[in-house]
Amino acid sequence: MRITALAGGIGGSRFLRGLLRAVPDAEVTVIGNTADDITLHGLHVSPDLDTVMYTLGDGVEESQGWGRRDDTNVVAAELAAYGAEPQWFTLGDRDLATHLIRTRMLAAGYPLSAVTEALCDRWRPGVQLLPMTDDRVETHVVVAESGSEAAGGDTGGERAIHFQEWWVRLHAEVPARRIVLVGIEQATPAPGVLDAIAAADVIVLPPSNPVVSIGPILAVPGVRDAVRAAAAPVVGVSPIIGGAPVRGMADAALTAIGVPTSAAAVAELFADLLDGWLVDTVDAAAVPAVESVGVRCRAVPLLMTDVDAAAAMARTALDLAEEARAR
Ligand code: GDP
Ligand code: CA
Repeated sequence: MRITALAGGIGGSRFLRGLLRAVPDAEVTVIGNTADDITLHGLHVSPDLDTVMYTLGDGVEESQGWGRRDDTNVVAAELAAYGAEPQWFTLGDRDLATHLIRTRMLAAGYPLSAVTEALCDRWRPGVQLLPMTDDRVETHVVVAESGSEAAGGDTGGERAIHFQEWWVRLHAEVPARRIVLVGIEQATPAPGVLDAIAAADVIVLPPSNPVVSIGPILAVPGVRDAVRAAAAPVVGVSPIIGGAPVRGMADAALTAIGVPTSAAAVAELFADLLDGWLVDTVDAAAVPAVESVGVRCRAVPLLMTDVDAAAAMARTALDLAEEARAR
């Protein structure tokens, strides 16, 4: 069975680990979000690709869900001693090797897809990991110029900051006026992306951030149309349980695009694509609303407390895909 998944970082990776446990023989292609990518201290960092690679390659720091296991921060401390900015984003010592190799290969002219393949040679994540695009796309967040909101409301002053600055430094506490995917119009899907969508037996949307993880992947010109046109059933898993994200600040990102933080509202966002959608048992009351927009829906436990729990979710998602196919 060929499964193609669209994934962000932590939520996507943990689900994919369960999927691989549920169907070890499946041929899985992961299309990863690269709109979180950022240049730090001259290094090209791809947080979501790395989270997938480390999680599936058994190298992740489980306690935080990202970064390298047992990492240290000697270099970060030295950079801070120089006063080097930004200090709100720490790159661990072990993790730095990944960014050094990526940056060096990109500078030598290799596309990000080739770099990702080379990095995966070491980690053997058990999936084919493709960046959504080889082109540079960055999620920026438009916020009020600092002080302008406090100074008596909307003075019109605003500025765009990198998504990571909004998320990591500001904890998404400053309201986002708009979310802008810089470079998306010019981006083309990375080699293999459209083929993986067209050739899939099942397409999966794991419980990743709908706005800043799944959103950018679908926004690469051609990708959303390809998913819609694919013969395979498309099933998704809600990242929202009981009206709140399980971790992170996905509610702030949903608010920025005017979507309520609920399992049903996220399903509606993808209703043109979805054949099936899983909500948590606490959201069982949302099932009719999801089905009313033409998406098969089932309420099951969606907390990925361990790999077995994620595997059970993945099995249910695949069952739902089978039902949709048989329809
Ligand atoms: P990021 O790029 O590291 O932020 O990761 P993703 O975009 O892949 O995933 C973030 C989303 O995962 C958040 O919206 C969380 O609500 C969701 N998430 C995290 N853990 C769980 C879980 O155990 N169950 C479900 N259903 N969603 C989860
Ligand atoms: Ca991310």
